Amino acid sequence: MLKKNAWEVLSDKEKKNIFEFAEGYRHFISENKTERKFVQSAVNIAISSGFQDISTKGKLVSGDKIFKVNKGKQVIFGIIGKQPLDTGARFIVSHVDAPRLDLKPNPVYEDDGIVYFKTCYYGGIKKYQWLTIPLALYGTVVLKTGEKKTIEIGDDMNDPVFTITDLLPHLAKDQVKKTIEDGFPGENLNILAATIPVKNDKEPVKNHLFLILKEKYGITEEDLISAEFEAVPAGNARHLGIDQSLILGYGQDDRVCAYTSMKALFESEKLEKSGFCILVDQEEIGSYGSTSAQSAFFQFFLEEVMEKTGCKKSLRFLFENSKAISADVSSLFDPGYKEVFDPRNSAKINHGVCVERTTGGRGKAGSTEPSAEYIAWIRNIFDKANVCWQPSEIGKVEQGGGGTVATFFARYNIPTIDCGTGVISMHAPFEVTGKADIFSTYLAYKTFYQAE
Ligand code: MN
Ligand code: MN
Repeated sequence: MLKKNAWEVLSDKEKKNIFEFAEGYRHFISENKTERKFVQSAVNIAISSGFQDISTKGKLVSGDKIFKVNKGKQVIFGIIGKQPLDTGARFIVSHVDAPRLDLKPNPVYEDDGIVYFKTCYYGGIKKYQWLTIPLALYGTVVLKTGEKKTIEIGDDMNDPVFTITDLLPHLAKDQVKKTIEDGFPGENLNILAATIPVKNDKEPVKNHLFLILKEKYGITEEDLISAEFEAVPAGNARHLGIDQSLILGYGQDDRVCAYTSMKALFESEKLEKSGFCILVDQEEIGSYGSTSAQSAFFQFFLEEVMEKTGCKKSLRFLFENSKAISADVSSLFDPGYKEVFDPRNSAKINHGVCVERTTGGRGKAGSTEPSAEYIAWIRNIFDKANVCWQPSEIGKVEQGGGGTVATFFARYNIPTIDCGTGVISMHAPFEVTGKADIFSTYLAYKTFYQAE
């Protein structure tokens, strides 16, 4: 179904399914705000759905459900299809990292009786949006012994939270004259962390803070060097609107596509072609690391699957016969900012999953641009399955642009198309999605896995 408002065409039963599905999603993204947590919780669901770690399997046959985790931050789930792997597979790739504030390796300092954490922002943010909101802190600290400490502060209602302060309007005469770019330097995004001193000490508040950290978690200042601390907006994702048709929540780029693509695979049985759901890390900072979409982990995993299914052909047969979806969010037309959108080519809230032909910017620079043949195949399977979907482009031609992981799969000679849920206020601490669009995304991905 092309460009129709989903609420006008759906049956009552479908509407009920939309709200039920969105509720599961709302809880999942509220409880899994880091890539580590998302991967671990996804694996837990997979195991309860009959998936097994591929390392425990000597041989793979049609119907087997497998997964492999990479360093706790990336995972591939797969269901072996009826047809041999060299006839091609279906890949859906999404990312589980999201914009946030990371603590620096030496983050703690004291200034005039207040202790702060220095941060470096991760991904593209509008810095002023992160001031004066409650922040939660998620940390993984690894001691020199290899012992791992997990720290989570701020999302339990009994926990304290953190914040970055802003100037009162009464004294902002000079601040308000600056541009947004100049007014909020990244170096000033320092998190307020403590104010109680110990007696007779040069850095009394800082030392008190480390006394607490030592006692509660057994960590010292030096241990923070081998730690990952992510400050994220505190609080749960919420229903949005009187009609509760939307979700307001952190990290929906791209956990909405990660959640829907994993649910679509977990609920698939008896696939013709093998289906794989790939959750990657580090998309928001360019996909350079060993847990990112550019990691050889993907290729090595497929080599292992080929071997274990007894397929003797080269990977190139698998790649050239496969199809991939780069499952990442699209920008939705926002009536409050009409000037940046081309209304004829922008996606609209409630009009279904977005199929984005062109990403990139400045004359398609950086776009992976799938062929007309592949787009025709996609729209045919979506229409046959009654999926609500819409073509989309990020905005006006010279207004900006964005990239996805599509290129890292297209380069294997796999036809790859961008297809995901639309978002308003993308990369803000709290992003907006439509429940009908989330469910359409789930249906689209399920259709893709099952298509012959
Ligand atoms: Mn993003
Ligand atoms: Mn994204």
